[in-house]
Amino acid sequence: MIHARGLHKSYPDGDGQPQRVLAGADLDVAEGELVAVVGPSGCGKSTLLNLLGGLDVEYQGEIEVGGKKLRGLSDCELSLFRNRTVGFVFQSFNLLAPLTALQNVMLPSYFGSHGGEGGPQLEQRARAALARVGLEAKSGRRPAELSGGERQRVAIARALFGQPRLILCDEPTGNLDEKTGAEIIDFFVKLVREEKLTMVVVTHEERVSRAAAKVLRLKEGQLVAEGSRA
Ligand code: ADP
Ligand code: MG
Repeated sequence: MIHARGLHKSYPDGDGQPQRVLAGADLDVAEGELVAVVGPSGCGKSTLLNLLGGLDVEYQGEIEVGGKKLRGLSDCELSLFRNRTVGFVFQSFNLLAPLTALQNVMLPSYFGSHGGEGGPQLEQRARAALARVGLEAKSGRRPAELSGGERQRVAIARALFGQPRLILCDEPTGNLDEKTGAEIIDFFVKLVREEKLTMVVVTHEERVSRAAAKVLRLKEGQLVAEGSRA
């Protein structure tokens, strides 16, 4: 599903000198795999995820996702890729406060085409995504009326809405307590197992990596195997 080779990425530091964050990172993720990328804060996990999801196109190296080389894509193809092939889940949920859960899930449909589907079909698909995360009864609630775990489930439903093959998660349990975080992780494991989704989770939290079949550590800009537990 993912083949990344020789990823290099630097940011200018305060003095305008390049600060190397990725320095030849290689990554292979098979279809249907749940992979955790671990490492301390600041080691480059979000940077890596943004490259894999086509959110950042300034890097050296090659990235292929679902058989497509990202570098070759036009802006339009890249936004389709972000909308259709990948789903994103972030630590801070990134829900819009004035919108209901259902509207938040449907948000991606306001950007770009959705294969000619009309409003009712899109709404039905959004309701189905909410049902998958167990929140069909709360589709009319706004984020402020939901618990942290429920907000993250809405964000997961939004990621599932576009029926992506790959889900990229950046510290998905970072704002959740122990028990709620564990529920979200269990849900990820179930999604990958039952729906053959592929998932990459970047995190500094041990509890997430314990659930992953494959754990990679981001160290000095490179990815090294941390061992595997199938
Ligand atoms: P992590 O997600 O592992 O905490 P990040 O990928 O966010 O790490 O950041 C890695 C390093 O790159 C950090 O030192 C951070 O300060 C720096 N960095 C991240 N984004 C930017 C940016 N847009 N401009 C400059 N430096 C950045
Ligand atoms: Mg980060």
